[in-house]
Amino acid sequence: MEKVYPAAPLEAPKGSGDVEATSASPEHQHLLSPPAPPSYDQATATPAETTGPGEGSTPATTTTHHTVVVVPSSPYGPEPMDIQCPYCHNHVRTRISYKPNSRTHLIALLLCLFQLYCCVCLPYCISSCMNTNHYCGMCDHYLGTYDRK
Ligand SMILES: [Zn+2]
Repeated sequence: MEKVYPAAPLEAPKGSGDVEATSASPEHQHLLSPPAPPSYDQATATPAETTGPGEGSTPATTTTHHTVVVVPSSPYGPEPMDIQCPYCHNHVRTRISYKPNSRTHLIALLLCLFQLYCCVCLPYCISSCMNTNHYCGMCDHYLGTYDRK
């Protein structure tokens, strides 16, 4: 029995790939420059009333937006606190651990710059140079951070 191979097309049809990029001619827009009114006191402090012809007589509504920036202050302080844990709902005293923040690294970097290499580890040992993380004393959940400014 003879196997009949399907005749594959040897030559791919050569598409005409020469597509000329049609460069659109830029349209020249004629901008009409408004004629400057001959006014003597243009820079004076008298406010000129500009009433548009199509605007009518709509009273200008002055809307003042008061942007209130609410800074969420952390309720946690530098000391262990008696709170109700939102996870295990027990009244517990938080367990704190100190965590170096960017200010801690900055002090260490400054100590390096002044070649006080023996004191570099000091800001990592002083708790007042670090943030205070609060954890639940019962379930050990992370509760919040007292961020030192
Ligand atoms: Zn808890």
